[in-house]
Amino acid sequence: MLIMSQQQFENFTASSLYCEKCKTAMPVRERLLLVLPDREIFDYLCTGCGSSVGQREVTAGDKLLAQAVARRRPRRALAQTLLH
Ligand SMILES: [Zn+2]
Repeated sequence: MLIMSQQQFENFTASSLYCEKCKTAMPVRERLLLVLPDREIFDYLCTGCGSSVGQREVTAGDKLLAQAVARRRPRRALAQTLLH
C-alpha cells in the first residue's frame, strides 16, 4: 500500500550535475533507487551517457517538512479580543 508511482518522482526534480564521462554538466534524471522505512534514496543519472553522477537521500522528516511548508497558509489572525 505504500508503493508510490514512479511518475511522481520523475517529475520531482530536474537539474544538471557534472558528469565525469561527459566532462561537463549534464541534465540528470532522478531515479528512485531504494525505499527504506525512514528514508528514500535517489540516484541521479546522466541523460547523456546514463552513468550515475550522484545520489540523494530524502529522510521522512525532510519529506514531512517539505509537505508542511507547501501546505502552510497564513493563519487567520484572531483580531477580536473581547474583554468584559
Ligand atoms: Zn555523462
